[in-house]
Amino acid sequence: MPSSQVIETLKQVFPGGKFLQRGTEQFEKLNSSYLSGLESDLKPAYIFQPQTKEDVAIFLQAIKPFIASVKFAIRGAGCQPVPGCANIQDGVTLDLSLLTGIDIEDGFVRIGPGERWGTVYEKLDAEGLGVCGSRSAKGGIGGLALEGGLSFFSSREGFICDNVLNYEVVLASGEIVNANAHENTNLWTALRGGGNNLGIVTKFDLRTFKQGKIWGGTVLYFAPSFPSQIEALVNELRDPNASKETHLMISIGYSPLYGKDVLCLNQPYYTQAVENPPVLDPFTKIQPQIDAMNTMRLHSLKDAADEQAGSSQSQVRCAYMNITVKADVDTLRAGSDIYTAGLESVKTVENGLFSLTLQPYPVSLIEKSAASGGNSLGLDPADGPLVSVLLLSYWKNKSDDDAVLAFMKSTLEMIRQDAASRNQLTPYVYMNYAFSHQDPIGSYGAKNKGKLQEASKKYDPEGLFQKGFPGGFKLFT
Ligand SMILES: Cc1cc2nc3c(=O)[nH]c(=O)nc-3n(C[C@H](O)[C@H](O)[C@H](O)COP(=O)(O)OP(=O)(O)OC[C@H]3O[C@@H](n4cnc5c(N)ncnc54)[C@H](O)[C@@H]3O)c2cc1C
Repeated sequence: MPSSQVIETLKQVFPGGKFLQRGTEQFEKLNSSYLSGLESDLKPAYIFQPQTKEDVAIFLQAIKPFIASVKFAIRGAGCQPVPGCANIQDGVTLDLSLLTGIDIEDGFVRIGPGERWGTVYEKLDAEGLGVCGSRSAKGGIGGLALEGGLSFFSSREGFICDNVLNYEVVLASGEIVNANAHENTNLWTALRGGGNNLGIVTKFDLRTFKQGKIWGGTVLYFAPSFPSQIEALVNELRDPNASKETHLMISIGYSPLYGKDVLCLNQPYYTQAVENPPVLDPFTKIQPQIDAMNTMRLHSLKDAADEQAGSSQSQVRCAYMNITVKADVDTLRAGSDIYTAGLESVKTVENGLFSLTLQPYPVSLIEKSAASGGNSLGLDPADGPLVSVLLLSYWKNKSDDDAVLAFMKSTLEMIRQDAASRNQLTPYVYMNYAFSHQDPIGSYGAKNKGKLQEASKKYDPEGLFQKGFPGGFKLFT
């Protein structure tokens, strides 16, 4: 439990402040609202909800004397499933949900960390504008804009973090600074992939662009077609004239909720208002498919993100793990075979939903990072095109945690070793999809990790965000 002293101090500093104490109804409701039950299992003693950026600054100054005995966490929307990244047992969780606000300016949108992407899209749609954000309307801002982030527009516009023009950030000292291409530039680059290590971001300015409706949706089909879908994906990625308007996700998985078969799901998008663009034909015209589940159509950005959010589950047990491989047909087919063989061990898990999702990092995406000012992720266009191999599991009962996590870890490790043996493995691990045993920051490479450590020493010389906020992926481990 936190020493009563820290809470007493905080209550003195914030008379009438929003403190939610463990055991109260409001606390339990908020603590149960993480995407994954693995994160809600952790029970802080208190949740504190700052109402302004100045509250955040004062909070950081007030807690400093106590970090040897009390630990803290930063929560955005709470959608990243790795346990402990945005919550802390017996400590104090700083919940940013009251720091809202969406202001559309000339060329960018300024977003508070308490917003969700769906609300941002609704406002931008009305202006004929788009932005790189989560494909899910329910997704939170911070986890993506600080960790990389894939959007519908990745092939054309780069990672979500590449589109952050300015971070308004509260440093460990309590100073509120801007980090952009002109001020605190090394902090700006470090935050593009640095996660919760360098400060608490109280506003994200993201570049906007003209955007009309987009074409896309879901196509559900059967396992025998998956190998040819892998081939189509690799062909598209390796095409020197590959379209920058496509965004492709292909998945294979199993859920008893959908019957006894392993099923496959494509989520192909074309980011212009064009119906049935021929470039998507290989991913949409698969036969046989379950026609009644085909949702391909023109969407506003908000509508497309609502559809993605609708397919997600909430307040269930959930975990993600990922690696990155080269766009190689044999490697991806072998990975899919390893995964589907492993599924046998979890088929009896109650309300289980298990998938292997392949998401491209096209060369055009990786090139955009450098062109947008750089980031911390350590990806080189010369290594592309690449494919993210994401294992995603949802299940109901805590008693199944060990079995599901063991299945995910062992399957991913087999896929990783197989890809390495073919010389098709790339070190990059996407932080947002990583699980506790993975090392995304190490995967950025020694040079980038070193730059992040330098930024930490400069902007947080006492290591408040390393020692006081132990959750998530840290810089000196
Ligand atoms: C249906 C569905 C669709 C998804 N779609 C996508 C997608 O399209 N693209 C994609 O890349 N991911 C996607 N994800 C992953 C998900 O969107 C992200 O995990 C989520 O948005 C993370 O943001 P958050 O604010 O909720 O982070 P949280 O879980 O609250 O926090 C994540 C980490 O960021 C830190 N953090 C959060 N806010 C701040 C801040 N303001 N300052 C400092 N540190 C902070 C926290 O301390 C923590 O370590 C999807 C997930 C689901 C379930």
